Formats: sequence, structure tokens, C-alpha cells
Amino acid sequence: MSQHDAAIEPSWTWDESRWRGAVEKVRAGRSLRPARWKNGARVCVALSFDSDHESSTLRDGSVSPGKLSQGEYGARVSVPRILEMLRRHGIRATFFVPAVVALLHPDEQRRVVDEGHELAMHGWIHEMTSELSPAVERDLMHRAHETLAKIGGRPPVGVRVPSWDFSPTTLALIRELQLTYDSSLMADDEPYELVEDGAATGIVELPVEWIKDDAPYFGMNRASTTRPYTPPSGVLEIFKAEFDGAAAEGGLFLLTMHPHIIGHRSRIWLLAELIEHIKRAGNAWFATHEEVARYCREQAAPAR
Ligand SMILES: [Zn+2]
Repeated sequence: MSQHDAAIEPSWTWDESRWRGAVEKVRAGRSLRPARWKNGARVCVALSFDSDHESSTLRDGSVSPGKLSQGEYGARVSVPRILEMLRRHGIRATFFVPAVVALLHPDEQRRVVDEGHELAMHGWIHEMTSELSPAVERDLMHRAHETLAKIGGRPPVGVRVPSWDFSPTTLALIRELQLTYDSSLMADDEPYELVEDGAATGIVELPVEWIKDDAPYFGMNRASTTRPYTPPSGVLEIFKAEFDGAAAEGGLFLLTMHPHIIGHRSRIWLLAELIEHIKRAGNAWFATHEEVARYCREQAAPAR
């Protein structure tokens, strides 16, 4: 039984405990936005790269060399291009990597770690988590954790659920694995504490949004009508506005990108422009997700 099956009975027939229980399963608790960022920085910038590579094709059970080659570009061209740019700017970032991708490209992950970046969890094969039974979700999550620990040299402390498809049992697994943070949910602009069934968990949420993600703007599906319609300059404008808003509020600017999407010549340009814009604005703390989560947790008042 998948976790979707619970929805087969029409929602308008549910009693209050059912719809209220669904909403309260995983909720945003207290804000963990610190009074000030590290070293007095005005704004925190957390760049993340989801190295999906071939897994977005394998996930669907496809073995098409044509489709797989689009993901291969991410490993072959984009990650080296991104790492070079980050090195030039002295910026550290977080790479969320499905375990199968880590097994396909272990040297890439070791280079990411050697260059000071964070390696974090992103599923086994980019599976759609909410389609899994709780037992399968648990097995894949544990295998992904072990795989990244082995390849990265230390256990990962954070997770981004593939496609942000967080299931009703995901948070329990995050707690079981004693992770520090999740970065898959969308209830705020700023870091917050996750609450499960009304109880604070101590797990830090570093929230995402499709607005701050390259994929929705540049996604393309040959077989459907999905086409990119926003030019890179338009995406840059949106990302800059998100950063400027975060800076004005003294908050967090967290951006999700995908090597096989952002690494192309016409798009890596927008990331370079964005970094220049952030640096010109001044006083930004560029940090890995792990550093942000730990800092927010340290700064927060002890939980009641
Ligand atoms: Zn992904």
C-alpha cells in the first residue's frame, strides 16, 4: 500500500480528526532565524546543487541512452564548471546527491568533499517518496545514508527529499537517523524547527521554494508541451529580487540548482552574475546548509 492510498476516500467525507491530523503531522514550529548571522553578516546565502544526473531518468525506469546522456552532462561538464566557479569566489555550498549517483560518480563526490563542500542525502535513485510503503522508504533512506557515509568519508547530517516529495513518515526517519536538518519543505522564508504531531523535534528546516529553483524555469520535456519560457536574464531577475528581499529583512537566501540544468553556458552565466550581485551588496555569509542549520540551532533559545 502506498501512502497515497489513504486519500482514496474523498476528502469531503473525512471527519475532523482526519483532516486536522494530516495537517498537524508535520508542521512549522518556532522560527530559528538568528538575531544576527555569523560574524555580524547582514544576510545568509546557502547555495545548493542537487546532483541528480542520470537518476532523474533511472527513477522512471527508463534506460534510454539519449536521456541518460543529458544527466551525464551534469557530471562530465557541469559539476567541474560549478566547482571551479565556487573555488574562484571562495564559496562553499551543499551538494545533495542520490546514492545511485554517488555510486556512479564516487570521484566527483570525493572532490566535492575535498574542496570543502557538504555532501548531503537526496534519496536512493531519486524515487518519489510518497509512492513508497513506509518499509521501503525506510530501507532506501538507510541505504542512502550508509552509501554517502562510505563515499563521503563521514555520515551526512542533512537531507533533501527527491522532488521535495516529503511523505507522512519521512520526518520519523530523519529523527531515527539523527540528522540535523531537512531542506524540502516550504512553510517559511527563514529556518524553523519541525514539529511532528504537535511536538517539537529539534530538527532544523531550511526551507525551499520552486521560485528559488532553476528546474521549473528551464525544464523541458520533448514528449509533452513543457518548454522553458523564461530566459536566463528573467530567472536572474527573480533570484536577485529574492536575494534583495532576504538582505532587506536580514534573512536567509537559499537557492536550489541542478548541475545538468544550470551548468550550461547560457545559464552558468546567471549564477556568475548572481554571485557578483550578492558580493557587491556586501556583508553576506555564504555557508553550507549544515553550517546554517548548526548556527541557527546554537543561536536559538533552548526549547521549552
Ligand atoms: Zn533532485
